[in-house]
Amino acid sequence: MADDCLFCKIANGDVPATIVHEDDQVLAFEDISAQAPFHVLVIPRRHISTLNDLQDGDETLVGTLIATAARIAKEHGHAQDGYRTVFNCNRGAGQTVFHIHLHLLAGRNMTWPPG
Ligand code: 5GP
Ligand code: ZN
Repeated sequence: MADDCLFCKIANGDVPATIVHEDDQVLAFEDISAQAPFHVLVIPRRHISTLNDLQDGDETLVGTLIATAARIAKEHGHAQDGYRTVFNCNRGAGQTVFHIHLHLLAGRNMTWPPG
């Protein structure tokens, strides 16, 4: 738990969120400012500030985030039409909350390249 980390507080239940999945390692909840009809954030319970802070041994955890997003997309009926998964790393990429999170966006057509 990092002091003053919003997503650690959500993971601990100190800040409310609409949870769509949780287990001992990861948590997924609705984004408060959805950028698509379906917009969920998948986070590790353990605090990691950015992708730059991953350490040897975190590969399985990152894979679990991605596999969890894929499973949630499927459960919510978005597998066939498709969905987007995004990690923003640092401010230049638009990261505003410094606890890694995988965006899962679905329910509309996505454009490429992203903004
Ligand atoms: P980033 O810009 O860091 O990649 O994404 C952070 C995301 O967290 C944004 O999409 C933002 O809407 C979301 N967010 C920020 N504060 C809260 C909050 O208090 N609750 C929830 N559920 N999402 C939040
Ligand atoms: Zn945190």
